[in-house]
Amino acid sequence: MNIELQCCALFVIFTIAVMFMREKKLDLMNRKLFQRAVFACFACLIFDILSVICINLSVNSDFNPVITEFVCKLYIMLLVLQGYFGYIYVSTGLLPRDKTWAKAVRIFYHMIFAVGEILMLVLPIGFTASGRIVYSFGPSTTVAYSLSAIYILTTIVTTIVYRKQMPGRRFIAMILWQGIWLLAAAVQFAVPQLLLVGFASAFGMVILYIQLENPSEFIDGYTGLFTTHALSAYVHDRYKFGKRFSLFTAQIHYLTNYVDYNMEQAAVMRTARALVSLGPEPAFRIDDDTFCVVYDDKDRMFERAANIKKQKDGVTDLPAKGTYLLVPDSMEMSGPDEFFRFLHTYLEAEEEITVASPKLVQKLRDQNGIKGLIDEAIREDRIEVFYQPFYNVKEDCFDTAEALVRIRTADGNIVPPGQFIPVAEETGQILQLGIVVFEKVCQFLVRKDPDKYGLKQIEVNISAAQFDIENPAKFVMETIERYGIAPGRINLEITETAAAKNRELMLKNMNHLIEKGITFSLDDFGTGLSNIDYFVNMPVGIIKFDYSFTHSYFENDKTRYVLPGMVDILHKLTMHVVAEGIETEDQMNVMKIMGVDYIQGFYFSRPIPEAEFIDFLKENNTK
Ligand code: C2E
Ligand code: MG
Ligand code: MG
Repeated sequence: MNIELQCCALFVIFTIAVMFMREKKLDLMNRKLFQRAVFACFACLIFDILSVICINLSVNSDFNPVITEFVCKLYIMLLVLQGYFGYIYVSTGLLPRDKTWAKAVRIFYHMIFAVGEILMLVLPIGFTASGRIVYSFGPSTTVAYSLSAIYILTTIVTTIVYRKQMPGRRFIAMILWQGIWLLAAAVQFAVPQLLLVGFASAFGMVILYIQLENPSEFIDGYTGLFTTHALSAYVHDRYKFGKRFSLFTAQIHYLTNYVDYNMEQAAVMRTARALVSLGPEPAFRIDDDTFCVVYDDKDRMFERAANIKKQKDGVTDLPAKGTYLLVPDSMEMSGPDEFFRFLHTYLEAEEEITVASPKLVQKLRDQNGIKGLIDEAIREDRIEVFYQPFYNVKEDCFDTAEALVRIRTADGNIVPPGQFIPVAEETGQILQLGIVVFEKVCQFLVRKDPDKYGLKQIEVNISAAQFDIENPAKFVMETIERYGIAPGRINLEITETAAAKNRELMLKNMNHLIEKGITFSLDDFGTGLSNIDYFVNMPVGIIKFDYSFTHSYFENDKTRYVLPGMVDILHKLTMHVVAEGIETEDQMNVMKIMGVDYIQGFYFSRPIPEAEFIDFLKENNTK
């Protein structure tokens, strides 16, 4: 009997079904649809074999033809079901969920399926067998073949139309699967004794399984937890189908520099086991030492999180601590992109517990908006540098100025640096921004030649992140050499906090630049740690008293003694002092008497654009 191919196919599909069922898997829509498609393929093959047996029996013996007709009908109905499930497997997630036309398309395909199944059941069917040629015919089979063709063709068209929305290997797998089916149908039509369709559909399932649905790809080899890749698929799936979730993330931080590899692996394994033992919810290993569990609701998440935290001491015998990130409601974020941006940003937070509150999510959005603003301003050349002159008390002139960056928005407004420098430092954009600022300062020096009007030096603010590990302060030297600027015309302002972060690297960079002739100031003095060590041993020639520090002199009796004392000490250390934030004549006079070397403040001038600054110098330095 002509059933060998179908029997082989049945064996193949059975193997896939067993492997698929046995693997630990995530509750993903695609997986469910694949499972359905496998089931339909399996059922279809069984009825394919049964129909061949029944047709042979009825033709060659007195087996009841009504039973054979019924079995043949069930077979073709299942064949259409298979095409229908195939189409749903491909189109779900591709067709937009909220568009009316997409809903109409969906309803149309459901309708033709329902109508088709009824027609196949009620319309007459015939069958014939002659040697190895066995088939059914009649109006019922015509409906079946027409519908199958519609489903296969629509599936191929949908795959092609939406190819940009899927990874390349998904596209290839889909086309191969449907193409093989179509080819097999054509061959079977031309050579009726070759019953290829059943085998082709099983073969298609093998392709889908290997390429797309193999759950072991989602499993971390060491812990058996799901991987980051799986988390990504899972989170995308839940957002796509509007399924709210809560997430709990735990990160192990080792408290010693030397951690034995085996002990670390053991700690990872124990954490994994502890997470799995807490409940049936999927647990993921998203980094070497970072784990997360996804819950359906926040109450359960908070309850489990408390449990995990309680257990953590038993989890590792290493000197380690855990930090936790909790996302009570996924709908707080607009979608998977924002969700992962949040995770990426706050996983490294210093706090022991971070909760994704609406306020924190809003902060991320604001930051992201500012990040976009910076990128756009760099791209469209809307970064501007303003200059604020310093008054040199001894020389009675303005021979130094600070370069202060601004962003000019597309509609002409000015964004002050306080609003974007902290974000730029966090996102790393400070590197590019710093280069643009430095470049503009050099252009200004070359084009406008402010030295003609008595300006000796420009001070440029520089963040810790701008210092290079590989080639110290490369961009500074490269730029001034390119513009042919004498290094003595540039003074760089660093801050105490920056110096505290990576002192070694900072010193290496500073010394490198100092050798070439560049000088340094210590900015924001009086706001940070103000540890004597920082300014005594830092190779800086100028200390800048921060606005708040200078003003405390006028507002606080105790600082009244600190400030003059500090000026005295710094002078003994042969350093110069700049007082920032001087706004009135009285304040200026007090600073002069105190012996401050330079005065910077709105009293003399606010930070102003290039042209205005040149006018200022012309007017005030050429008396
Ligand atoms: P900073 O380096 O301490 O700069 C001095 C700030 O004090 C400037 O604010 C200046 O406008 C302001 N200021 C000066 N005199 C007075 C005054 O009399 N009264 C008051 N209320 N304020 C005064 P700005 O321009 O908003 O800059 C803020 C901070 O942004 C700077 O503080 C600096 O830390 C940072 N920044 C500015 N430009 C750059 C840059 O190109 N790179 C880096 N990394 N940071 C920059
Ligand atoms: Mg400064
Ligand atoms: Mg300052």
